[in-house]
Amino acid sequence: MRIGILGGGQLGRMLALAAVPMGHEVVVLAQSPDEPACAVARPLIGSFDDDLVIERLRQSVDVVTYEFENVPRAAVEGLAAHLPVRPGVRSLVVASDRWNEKTTFHALGIGTAPFAQVDDEDSLRAAVDRIGLPAVLKTRRLGYDGKGQRVLRTEADVPGAFAAIGGVPAILEGFVRFTRELSILGVRGVDGTIVTYPLVENTHRSGILFRTDAPAPHVSDALATRAREAISRLLVELDHVGVLALELFDREGELLANEIAPRVHNTGHFTIEGADTSQFEAHVRAITGEPLPPLTLRGRSVMINLVGAIPPRELILAIPGAHLHLYGKTERPGRKVGHITICAPDDAALDDRVARVIAIVDTNRDGPA
Ligand code: AMP
Repeated sequence: MRIGILGGGQLGRMLALAAVPMGHEVVVLAQSPDEPACAVARPLIGSFDDDLVIERLRQSVDVVTYEFENVPRAAVEGLAAHLPVRPGVRSLVVASDRWNEKTTFHALGIGTAPFAQVDDEDSLRAAVDRIGLPAVLKTRRLGYDGKGQRVLRTEADVPGAFAAIGGVPAILEGFVRFTRELSILGVRGVDGTIVTYPLVENTHRSGILFRTDAPAPHVSDALATRAREAISRLLVELDHVGVLALELFDREGELLANEIAPRVHNTGHFTIEGADTSQFEAHVRAITGEPLPPLTLRGRSVMINLVGAIPPRELILAIPGAHLHLYGKTERPGRKVGHITICAPDDAALDDRVARVIAIVDTNRDGPA
């Protein structure tokens, strides 16, 4: 099949790297030829807002997917009138707006922190009175990696906070004193089949994902079931086809939903080496209408993100079981430039290898001199 991907980032690159060996052709709609996916697929360079570019994409592919949720709705709707766009518009509309996300969780009986809509200083005041402090003010749209959000700790933080996030539509959420952060990835096929990976545990640094442990340790059957049920309900409600990621807070065994991503997800990168079928292959199978296998892990693995700097590759590759993935991006503070997945035959070896990788990554955090 000919697959069109809206977006040329690393997710598009890894999707193409899964699709091409399966016999698919991939066309990537990117804003610039330097974007990571353009090196591994046929690039189509142009704006998502340009009707002519969208028309060219439509004529070159059989199915369209997207690798980030901030593609303009009009572009997706325009394509969806002519060919399958998977996941569809509804997944995009819900996942690209925090208010839509939270109300969808609520409607499905999936627990969240208390939340309220904020459209100006007055509604922020009312929301703080209802939810209390500390709380987190987040823009409804375009926030990621902790961007577009502010923690309000005391009353003194409230005046001016709405202006500080740009004076745009927002939500206020109660601050969750979570024990840990988890995520679960589910995949739904065209025929409605649902498969899920086990829960993974995520550690952030400065609001950016740093580490994923797969599977998450100490997960009771009850916790696993609740997470699986939550993502399954979301997949059905959105009539979603493809991978869907659900980020969760674990507060002493209680699961609270934070957000969803209607696409392959950073917390699923470990699946390339750590699972029988990667999230990228699973997504490709789903959107092309092919069978979905059970998503079993090959054991424990750990993913470490490379943020801002690429460590000396020879040091990483000298560590057994360490798999280096670089996205073809230049180094810049806060930018995800690659990741490393570490596998090992047993827990002791894994812990040792992970410690060695982190030591190298931390030594080179500021990039080459
Ligand atoms: P988000 O962009 O919503 O994924 O938020 C980025 C990170 O901020 C999350 O991974 C959490 O570590 C933290 N965070 C977000 N929302 C909350 C909250 N309501 N309470 C506590 N921490 C939060």
